[in-house]
Amino acid sequence: MRYTILTLFPGLITPWLSESLIKKARERGLISVEVVDLRAFGLGRHRAVDDTPYGGGAGMVIRADVAVAALEAVGPAEEVILLSPAGKPFTQKVAEELAQKEHLVLLAGRYEGFDARVEAFVTRTLSIGDYVLMGGEVAALAVLEATARLIPGVIGDPQSHREDSFVRGLLDFPHYTRPPEFRGLRVPEVLLSGNHQEVLRFRRREALKRTLALRPELLSEARIGALEALWLAELDREG
Ligand code: SAM
Repeated sequence: MRYTILTLFPGLITPWLSESLIKKARERGLISVEVVDLRAFGLGRHRAVDDTPYGGGAGMVIRADVAVAALEAVGPAEEVILLSPAGKPFTQKVAEELAQKEHLVLLAGRYEGFDARVEAFVTRTLSIGDYVLMGGEVAALAVLEATARLIPGVIGDPQSHREDSFVRGLLDFPHYTRPPEFRGLRVPEVLLSGNHQEVLRFRRREALKRTLALRPELLSEARIGALEALWLAELDREG
């Protein structure tokens, strides 16, 4: 998979690319990441990229001619994604869809964002959550992280992301490691029992319990079997 990230602050992106799993994935040729400085397409001696908004108001707007010149220099891509709090939610389902593509272009804004006409040059607009960041770099990195880990070979154990939060429509079950007791808090006995069937049952029930407590709205879309429906009714009664 090829990624191209367009930003006014390349220095915020590049350190991320030379650490941990993203670094390894690049070294092994599983992904490539190119960072493009929007400023290089700025106008005049000062390489201006922004201007005041038509209609007045606070803040500066990134010019469409600057952004589109940068996009055209990158060339055509299967997906050109504008990062914006006013976009559609970036979910695990969208990450799975994007992970199938060959080339993702990620356009990170600053200030008040881009001139709205830039939307005519992108394939979709995505938001990473209902809050406003100072810039799109963290959002672009979120899309990079969430999609790259789905590419075969990027993370060690392919089983691990089949059990992640959201994959089955539920939150992940709680995880524990040594020591078995920490400050009076014990690891649930069943996880020490060696009984694989019981461990699986416990984890499925805990995932449901967590989802019910923290994100009940996910349950209506989740893939839930007969036994899980029974547990849900039980958990509901337990309050
Ligand atoms: N005026 C914009 C609004 O209220 O929708 C906010 C602009 S924000 C300060 C600057 C840039 O940060 C945006 O152009 C976008 O690229 C990025 N950004 C901020 N929050 C984001 C979010 N939740 N998801 C994706 N990108 C975000």
